[in-house]
Amino acid sequence: MSIHCITFDLDETLWETGPALERAEQALHRWIVRTLPDSEPRALADLQAHRQHFYTTIPEIVHDLTQARISWLVALLTEAGYHPQEAKMLASKGFEVFAEWRSRLVPFDGVQETLAALKERYRVGAITNGNADVRRVGIDHLLDFVITPVEAGAAKPDAAIFRCALDTVQVRAQEAVHVGDDPVCDIAGAAALGMKTIWMNPAGLPWPDGSGTKKHSPTAPDAEIRTLSSIIERIERW
Ligand SMILES: [Mg+2]
Repeated sequence: MSIHCITFDLDETLWETGPALERAEQALHRWIVRTLPDSEPRALADLQAHRQHFYTTIPEIVHDLTQARISWLVALLTEAGYHPQEAKMLASKGFEVFAEWRSRLVPFDGVQETLAALKERYRVGAITNGNADVRRVGIDHLLDFVITPVEAGAAKPDAAIFRCALDTVQVRAQEAVHVGDDPVCDIAGAAALGMKTIWMNPAGLPWPDGSGTKKHSPTAPDAEIRTLSSIIERIERW
């Protein structure tokens, strides 16, 4: 069966996320310290623990990382004595600070060229559990769609998010390939729906076979790549 659609995970597949996320956490921390009326500034680690605890109280929205973080900021500001209306307004501003730094991502070598080449032949989209903003990164014009848990109502590896992406372009699972770095969220999730899978494995790690620390024993990928530029040749073999 011929391939009509390629979907990509974003974080750790098209770029490294760690440094941007760390800078975003630090920038938001500086903003919080400036904004809270505390006499003693709160440490970043304390605030992160506060946020993690808050997330356990909102299981129904925690898959929406943007809304979850904004809700946490509202709670933090309200606890600090801000009026709820003012807390909401300020929380949006605080999230903007975070989002600006969160999206200062540098795509791996060859990402733009590869996406552009694929887009000439296939529908190309992104399926992410995260909240990186592809417009801010500057690759939105290379993607036909971006699906997050907000649109799908579920996060990877739930089949619903892959189904949501395929429905967007009216492509059957057997005609689609998903590319990602996470053995469970990306590979097992997409394979469960019948999509072909390519494991992005830049570090050349051994495939986790279920005997390691992974909670689920994931389905092995159909193919494995170390760099994105080798993907076109690999897909054309299908
Ligand atoms: Mg990833």
